[in-house]
Amino acid sequence: MNILFKNIKSLAGIRSADVKLLKGNELNELPAIDDAWLHVQDGNIAAYGGMKGVDFNLFKVEGAIDVDCTGRIILPCFCDSHTHLVFADWRQEEFVYKIQGLSYEEIAARGGGILNSAKKLNATSEEVLMEKALQRIEEIKNQGTGAVEIKSGYGLCYEGELKMLRVIKKLKNISPIPIKASFLGAHAIPLEYKERRSDYIKMLTDELMPKIAEENLADYCDVFCEKGFFTSDETDLILQAGWKYGLKPKIHANQLAISGGVQAGIRNNAISVDHLENVGDEEIEALKNSYTIPTLLPSAAFFLRMQYPPARKMIEAGLPVTLATDYNPGSSPSGRMSFVISLACIQMKMTPEEAINAATLNGARAMELENVLGSITVGKKANIILTKPINSISNIAYNFGNDVIEKVFVS
Ligand SMILES: [Zn+2]
Repeated sequence: MNILFKNIKSLAGIRSADVKLLKGNELNELPAIDDAWLHVQDGNIAAYGGMKGVDFNLFKVEGAIDVDCTGRIILPCFCDSHTHLVFADWRQEEFVYKIQGLSYEEIAARGGGILNSAKKLNATSEEVLMEKALQRIEEIKNQGTGAVEIKSGYGLCYEGELKMLRVIKKLKNISPIPIKASFLGAHAIPLEYKERRSDYIKMLTDELMPKIAEENLADYCDVFCEKGFFTSDETDLILQAGWKYGLKPKIHANQLAISGGVQAGIRNNAISVDHLENVGDEEIEALKNSYTIPTLLPSAAFFLRMQYPPARKMIEAGLPVTLATDYNPGSSPSGRMSFVISLACIQMKMTPEEAINAATLNGARAMELENVLGSITVGKKANIILTKPINSISNIAYNFGNDVIEKVFVS
């Protein structure tokens, strides 16, 4: 890819290489050059600047394809740091049950929930899982996502979890965008282990983790630290075992209630604690003095009709905030980052600049990809979004449900 983008209405998300994570007030600044050009060579950002007075003969741009971007904005691709996009099938029947007023327990009794996805996944071949996941990756790429994290957690048994992680590993090799893998064996307790939870946890830590390390199948270890799922003590146990096998923590916390998950993530040096629909001052205070990033998943709150995480309070406390989709068949059957950005603005009162920063550079940081993606920086991968003609960057959030993206370039 050797492309010279010219007459760009605004080139947004320009950062020097030393800016790796945006916190508090920093989130509201989205540095941009109006009437700009951008040169991409060999898939990387080679140079950029303002159109006024530029002499392209001074740059090594021979052979570059010219793309006229009049009226259009260029920004870095979204980095979706939390998805479950390897799954066997949708769960639209549960969607209808929920509309009809059935409770979570009633839906579970009809065979719904995470265990439903696990049953379907274990009955589906690796090849079919691959094919479906690859289609979803292609779809989110076209919607502006330039890197994605994918979790296991629908296997919930030794073979099933390995199958999912092997699928994700294969996807890494053929996907058009970078992928990070998280081991989420601790997503739910399978029915057959209901009366012997510690045996299931032992299977995860003593049998699965060594195999995952041996085959290099995952980057992170995740736990669903929620009431009715895994306690904060169990989370400690699993995350500490994960560290031994080189799996860094990135966990689900405080979605359904104050679970102690935020503190569990912090004390285990998690890269991120994700969800946070239920956090108070104590959790925000704990995050302030930590290495751990809060990741918010507003399309899950939207779909489940739950309260949204207090993003404003977190930003005003000086925290870094990340946005991701939680793409999964149970609580967020969409991987569209621009909708997440719209929800962040409409429901959590983030500004469009804050939401875009949270969805790009901070998303990259939550996958440890901040040195290669997430901003317009010389030397970074040129995974970029070219919008349709729009008035301003705010239109990405404002025109919810409409695609203001014209083309996505990934390398
Ligand atoms: Zn999730």
